[in-house]
Amino acid sequence: MRGLYIGRFQPFHLGHQAVLERIALEADEIIVGIGSAQASHTTSNPFTAGERLAMISGALRKLGKWFYIIPLPDLERNAVWVAHVRSMLPPFDLVYSSNPLVIQLFSEAGIEVRKPPLFRREVYSGTAIREMMMAGDDWRALVPPGVVSVIEEVGGVERLRNISQGDRPF
Ligand code: ATP
Ligand code: MG
Repeated sequence: MRGLYIGRFQPFHLGHQAVLERIALEADEIIVGIGSAQASHTTSNPFTAGERLAMISGALRKLGKWFYIIPLPDLERNAVWVAHVRSMLPPFDLVYSSNPLVIQLFSEAGIEVRKPPLFRREVYSGTAIREMMMAGDDWRALVPPGVVSVIEEVGGVERLRNISQGDRPF
């Protein structure tokens, strides 16, 4: 059975890791789709698809399952999004998501969706982690060690703080 997990992973955190561990108990192969793959260098999408791929591959390797990581650019046409996703990925049997729109779109297409439980959502949240980075708070304990390395390697926190400043008035 091939299980699909889609997210933006801005950044990949321990909540995502927990979902992947759950999927690994059920699936023989794991497909991770990197959503909004075209986006980067914004306050809601600071990291490139390639940087996110590096974050996720370290985590997946440790699970010992065959895996694929595939960037998925936004289509901005929800009605045909599932066909777009299918055109980019190996065939899959099951989708794991807690995102209401993703659940709705796959369900309408007749594809089974399982909703993994949310793990410590108040802190294991991309939005919360990006806010901590911008505020100068310590976010490192909320992501796997390999993700800390990728973010440090690309100067991710400095990037996020720089782009969040906006133009300064004279
Ligand atoms: P953002 O705040 O930027 O939306 P996020 O933490 O929701 O970030 P996404 O990349 O949007 O991360 O999430 C991908 C998938 O992982 C979604 O289905 C989301 O519901 C799920 N997810 C996010 N955080 C957790 C968590 N703590 N536990 C379980 N699932 C999570
Ligand atoms: Mg989200």
